[in-house]
Amino acid sequence: MPETAGMNRKGMVAKILSRIRSDSFSSNYSLLGKELGRGKFAVVKKCMENASGKEYAAKFLRKRRKGQDCRMDIINEIAILEIAKSNSHVVDLHEVYETTSEIILVLEYAAGGEIFNQCVADKDEAFKEKDVIRLMCQILDGVSYLHGKNIVHLDLKPQNILLTSCNPLGNIRIVDFGLSRRVDSIEEIREIMGTPEYVAPEILNYEAITTATDMWSIGVLVYVMLTGISPFLGDDKQTTYLNISKVDIDYSEDIFEDISNLAIDFIQTLLIKDPRKRAKAEQCLHHPWLSSKLEVPKPITESEEEQSEQNSPDSEELVLMASYTL
Ligand code: ADP
Ligand code: MG
Repeated sequence: MPETAGMNRKGMVAKILSRIRSDSFSSNYSLLGKELGRGKFAVVKKCMENASGKEYAAKFLRKRRKGQDCRMDIINEIAILEIAKSNSHVVDLHEVYETTSEIILVLEYAAGGEIFNQCVADKDEAFKEKDVIRLMCQILDGVSYLHGKNIVHLDLKPQNILLTSCNPLGNIRIVDFGLSRRVDSIEEIREIMGTPEYVAPEILNYEAITTATDMWSIGVLVYVMLTGISPFLGDDKQTTYLNISKVDIDYSEDIFEDISNLAIDFIQTLLIKDPRKRAKAEQCLHHPWLSSKLEVPKPITESEEEQSEQNSPDSEELVLMASYTL
C-alpha cells in the first residue's frame, strides 16, 4: 500500500474505505450499452451519472480471483489513483462503489480510446511524429509525477494510454494501475521479499523494481507510436524474450523513413539494458527531440476537449511553429 507524505498506510486505507459507497451504483448511473474494454478480472463500461447527465467509464473489478480475495489489490489501485489525482494526465477517479462480488471504479471517460488504435493504423491514420512528440510530453509529465511520488506503473503499453478525443487528436490519460506499486517503502519490500535479514543489498537500495522499468516501456511505446512496429515481438514468447534480453532493435532507414534522428536518439536513451543507465522521465522531458522545431499542434484546451467530445464539426487543429510546452 502506498503512502503519501503525512499519511501512513492505515490512514490511507481508512480514507479510501470511507470513500467507498455501499448504495447502489445502478440507481445512480445508467449503463450506456457499449463495453469499452475488458481484461482478465475487469470489465469497463460507458455509463451516465443520472444526477448530472455526465458520461463516465465504470471499471467493474472482481474481488475474488482464482479463489483468492483480492480486495486489497483493488484498494491499492484506488490509493494510487488518489495520490495521482492532481496530475491531469492520469485518469480522474470520480467515485467508488462496492457490491458483494465487485468494486466499481467510476472513472473520467476518455472518449478517444486507446492509442493502440493509431499505433496499428494505416499510415494516413497513424500518428505523425509531431503528434507523438506532443503526446509523449504528456505521458512523461504523468509518469514523472508518479515517479516523483515513488510510484511505478509497471504496465505502460498502448492499451493503457487513452485519449480524451480522437479527431481532433486530444490529450493523454494514463489508466490501469492494477500492477502499480510504491518502490521506496522498506515495509513493502519486506512484504515482497520475506525476512529482511536475508535480503540482498540491491533490494535494500530499492533496485528490485525501479522507476527505470517504466522507462524501458516508454522506449518501446515511442518506437511503436512512431513506426507501428513492436520492436521485440517475435513469432513466439521465447523469441520475444530473447530479442529483449539481447536488446535486438532494428533502427534501419526503411523502418524509420521520414522520422528524425533525434527521435531515434530519444529511444536509444531508454532501450538500454542496464536500468541505471536509462534516462529518467524528468531527463526525457528535456531531450531535444521533444523541443525540436517540428510543426507541433497546440495542445487542446479543456473547453476544446469538451467541444470535441461533442464532435464539433468545425473544431480546427491549431498549429504552433515553436517548441512545445505542456
Ligand atoms: P485491465 O486491468 O483489465 O487491463 P484497464 O483499466 O486497462 O483494465 O481497462 C481495460 C480497457 O478499458 C482499457 O484498455 C480501455 O480500452 C478501456 N478503458 C479503461 N478505462 C477507460 C476510461 N476511463 N475511458 C475509456 N475507456 C477506458
Ligand atoms: Mg489494461
